[in-house]
Amino acid sequence: MDINAVSSGIAAMQGLVGISRTLLEVRDITKLAGIQFELNQRILDVQAAMFDLQAKFQAKSDAFEALKAHATQLESAARDRERYTLHEIRAGAFVYRRREDVQPTEPIHYLCQPCFDKGVKAILEAQDSGVYGELQICPVCDRKIAMST
Ligand SMILES: [Zn+2]
Repeated sequence: MDINAVSSGIAAMQGLVGISRTLLEVRDITKLAGIQFELNQRILDVQAAMFDLQAKFQAKSDAFEALKAHATQLESAARDRERYTLHEIRAGAFVYRRREDVQPTEPIHYLCQPCFDKGVKAILEAQDSGVYGELQICPVCDRKIAMST
C-alpha cells in the first residue's frame, strides 16, 4: 500500500475534523461562509486522496493477480516436469521420457531435451526417413534424432 496516499488521505480527514470543530464554535455568519469554503476544499482533498488510493490499490491488486497466475503456471510446469526423466534414446542422443514410476495416463512419448531444458514441452514426432530408419523430430526446434545408429 502506498504510504504517501494513505498519509495524504489521513491529513485531509484530520483537516475535516478540525473544520467541524471550528463550525461548532463559530456563531458569526461571515466567518461561517469562509469556513464553508474551506470545508468544501477539504472534502475535495479527501476525494482526490481516495481516488488516488483506489487507483493505486487497483494497480497493486492487478499486479498481485498477474503474479498469482504466473506462480500457478510455474507450479503446474514444475509438476509436469517432475513426470519426466532424461533418457538416452541411443548412444549420445538424449530425450526426456515419462518416468517409469509415474502412473501411465498417456501413451509413451519423448520430449525434445534442449527444448524441455528451456521450459518448452515439445513432444517428438516419429517419422520414417527411409535411409536413417525412424527419426524423432522436434516440432519446435526441428531437431532430428535417429532411433538407431
Ligand atoms: Zn526441440
